[in-house]
Amino acid sequence: MSEGLAFLATCDLVALVRGRALRKDSVLVSEKTVGWVPADISLSAFGSIEEPNPFGSWGDLRLVADPSTEVSLSTIAEVGRPLSVFLANQVLPDGSPWDCDLRTHAQRSIAELNSRYGIDLVASFEHEFVLVDPFTAEGSPFGLDSFRLAEPFGSDLFESLAANGLEPENWLAEYGAGQFEITVRPAPAMVAADRAILLREIVRDVARIHGKRASFSPLPKIDGVGNGVHVHLSLYKDGEPVTYDSTQPGGISHLASTAFAGILEHAAALQAWTAPSQISSYRLKPHRWSSGGAFAAVQDREALLRICPLVKIGSGDPIQSFNVEYRAADATANPWVVISVLTRALIAGLDAGKPISKIYTLDDPATADSVPTLPNSLEEAISELLNDVTVLSWFSPDLLEAHLGIRRNEARELAELTPSEKCERYFRVY
Ligand code: GLU
Ligand code: MG
Repeated sequence: MSEGLAFLATCDLVALVRGRALRKDSVLVSEKTVGWVPADISLSAFGSIEEPNPFGSWGDLRLVADPSTEVSLSTIAEVGRPLSVFLANQVLPDGSPWDCDLRTHAQRSIAELNSRYGIDLVASFEHEFVLVDPFTAEGSPFGLDSFRLAEPFGSDLFESLAANGLEPENWLAEYGAGQFEITVRPAPAMVAADRAILLREIVRDVARIHGKRASFSPLPKIDGVGNGVHVHLSLYKDGEPVTYDSTQPGGISHLASTAFAGILEHAAALQAWTAPSQISSYRLKPHRWSSGGAFAAVQDREALLRICPLVKIGSGDPIQSFNVEYRAADATANPWVVISVLTRALIAGLDAGKPISKIYTLDDPATADSVPTLPNSLEEAISELLNDVTVLSWFSPDLLEAHLGIRRNEARELAELTPSEKCERYFRVY
């Protein structure tokens, strides 16, 4: 008997999940692949394909399911059959990798960090989103009232994430009206990126079941609070954590400092990949607790790289969980791309061999004129990208052109809108 449908999914350059379904039993037993079209990677967030694009009407791909990524949507509270979703790599019809496939891109970057430096990257994506519901929005920041107003959505979400193996850790009402945050346990970087993609879909789906909508848009309202995607990163060698060293500034080891220096060095170009929408840069400003400049600091929520505290309370080895948080990503960026470019930047840092020159602390905080600013707009970030030969070298010409084409297209599509109207457009998509 058929067990229902399985959706083979890819996540594209605008971080939307697309794909096709087939009978689940055929995914598990025989087929595992469905057809796909190269030009789909040139879709904008608003559903139009940039013309011209590197692919045109030509070519064929296959989506190949990775069985380890299976999750079941709608397991909670809904009558009807669950839908299995599998993340998939896009390959050519002969099975060879497609050089614009973003999952493959991330897998290659992670493998390179390991083969060149013996380092395994562990990561966790922390997501904020807004629950669109007038009642919930009336709760207080971080309040038990907000938490309760979101029930039973919150408990169902937590349960669905747990049942699907995503290992949720914290579920909280955030600062903004109707804003919430969900965190999951750290995992090997590829698993973490897969989880980030699946988590967003599970959040949206559980919200849908409860008659609500969840939006991860970086800035739902121009004068409101931003939704960040913070990526916690730590380095391991031979299964041992190597990020911490109590004798070094900020407690960050020489090796880790050298690697993370690569993220600071290439911060402006990275922003074109990790915060790639027309409104992403509105969020990345001082006093928004997002990231107010390209600097590293101990426990500062306005740093690009926040060195998180060594938590000594509770069970477990605190050094295992010591990590550095990259704060300039948002949900308009594909998590595979985010992990891929951050990994490449770590490699670039290790290649350059210079530790972070200055780590700010509470006693010696960053000031607006002491740190490099982040690009003010996507256009600025893209021109930084086009001047950064190291970052450019990470992408095939087709993939780079697809990315730039989408960004041109989105800029054109929204050209006549005010910043507030732009926020409204993205809010409806993300
Ligand atoms: N909402 C903030 C952002 O846009 C983050 C607040 C926090 O959790 O520190 O990144
Ligand atoms: Mg938060």
